[in-house]
Amino acid sequence: MIVKITWLGTAGFILDIEGTNILFDPFFYRNEQSTPILRTKREDIKDISAIFITHGHFDHAIDAAFFAETLDIPVYCSETAKKSMINWAGGLVIEEHTFPLSDRGKNNIKPIDYFERIKITEKVTVESIKSEHIVFDARTLLSKLFSWKVLKQIKSLLPYGKGFPKGKVFGFCTYFNNKKIVSFGSLWHKFPEILEKYENCDIFLAPLAGNSKKHIAKKAGIIIDILKPKIVIPIHWDDFYPPISWTVNLKPFFKYMEENHPEIKIIMLEFDKEVSIELS
Ligand SMILES: [Zn+2]
Repeated sequence: MIVKITWLGTAGFILDIEGTNILFDPFFYRNEQSTPILRTKREDIKDISAIFITHGHFDHAIDAAFFAETLDIPVYCSETAKKSMINWAGGLVIEEHTFPLSDRGKNNIKPIDYFERIKITEKVTVESIKSEHIVFDARTLLSKLFSWKVLKQIKSLLPYGKGFPKGKVFGFCTYFNNKKIVSFGSLWHKFPEILEKYENCDIFLAPLAGNSKKHIAKKAGIIIDILKPKIVIPIHWDDFYPPISWTVNLKPFFKYMEENHPEIKIIMLEFDKEVSIELS
């Protein structure tokens, strides 16, 4: 069978399973310096059955309430992320950023816990996997977070950090026709016994962000060693919100894959472009 995936930058993507569309971690709030340029606007997004948010950080959660309101669809996320979304809509994070979120919209944002199974259709179910956020390594902190550029803008950037705490962190496993698609919003490998449950998944969408290139390859490698997916799709490696982000050099990751998992197919996606993937 064939699934279609459209990458929308960061950890955001649409998964189309025989016409059932699920949206993960939509982030359209990119700034002008971000690359590549995302052409899809959030207003272009239609026909979505449900949205899943991996964690509360702004690059994962900031746009979700917009969809809860305008598309009138469920957004599944942590309790913490729900609070941030409502605060953001109400102008409590940044005063000049508000939008009308009705009670119906708020009710569409549904807090979930670890290992909940949400039935999307008769055939498609999404399970929330207990996960955590990647721990920033020293090199990343020194070179990026304390850079002059960041310091200069720290005042304007702080509300995003404070207003969008990570809360509970989820991975997701989408089940359909005996297939499993695992997707994370951040790399976390400290629960091997949990990951083992998703061994031999069909696709793993791997967020390659938040560490130096060497550590990213290593941490992604640990997860991939356990998951043994048939296909890996790197996401979140784009420069989504400079200066706090950067384009990740994926060479060490490709090298790791070549040396350890030549049998695993790597599919690179472009923004906005729907790709059909045949699952055997
Ligand atoms: Zn992120």
